[in-house]
Amino acid sequence: MLRMHDIHKAFGDNEVLKGIDIEVRRGEVLAIIGPSGSGKSTLLRCINKLETIDSGSIEIKGEFLAVTDGDGKAEYVETKKERQLLASTGMVFQQFNLFPHMTVMENLLEAPMQVKGLKREEVEPYARQLLAKVGLSDRADYYPSQLSGGQQQRVAIARALCMKPDIMLFDEPTSALDPELTGEVLKTMRELAEEHMTMVVVTHEMAFAREAASQVIFMADGNIVEQGEPETFFSQPREERTQAFLQNML
Ligand code: ATP
Ligand code: MG
Repeated sequence: MLRMHDIHKAFGDNEVLKGIDIEVRRGEVLAIIGPSGSGKSTLLRCINKLETIDSGSIEIKGEFLAVTDGDGKAEYVETKKERQLLASTGMVFQQFNLFPHMTVMENLLEAPMQVKGLKREEVEPYARQLLAKVGLSDRADYYPSQLSGGQQQRVAIARALCMKPDIMLFDEPTSALDPELTGEVLKTMRELAEEHMTMVVVTHEMAFAREAASQVIFMADGNIVEQGEPETFFSQPREERTQAFLQNML
């Protein structure tokens, strides 16, 4: 479903990704953990081209979004194809990023209507289903400011799902929430994982990674230090850096 090979990315002199390889199969959940500044968000943002890669390749659903040949520089596919590939990803940010002047329902309808050109009546039933799924059927006409952080984040998840993505990307979706509100968001994410949504999740929630992920990656300084299935990864980390990091998280 998603394959990234030898991804390099620098901001000026700051090399942030130093040759990253990842592969996520359909229905898998990849959890990415690691210290602040290790390049987790940058890697995630490269998947949907919020950041461009310098070199390496990105394959989504078996098609190349970007490739690097002879000259060592990544080239992206033509615009139409690119748009189509990027439309198969949905992203949820730490800070929800809902449109504040729109109701919950309008937030969900916006992209399907504006980007896909669908009619309101074509999208609204599905939007209602998604709101029910995230437990917010009764909040369709509320504005984001009238909702708790946990509710806003669940709206953000429903909004991303409303575009029917094949891959959901999450960048620390619970980090901005009060501790008592993280559970409801993690529950929604667990349910998605159980329904075999393909997901890439940057998270500090080790319990979530352990239970919901199919693979866990530990990043530090722009490299993948260790990777494995959650059971072995958490109970028997091989690398000292991973051990130290996990110890700190407890
Ligand atoms: P955190 O856990 O704090 O979110 P992270 O692992 O997500 O950290 P990134 O946000 O990917 O780390 O940042 C990696 C490095 O890239 C940092 O040194 C950061 O300062 C730098 N960086 C990120 N985005 C930009 C940008 N747009 N311009 C310049 N430097 C950036
Ligand atoms: Mg980050």
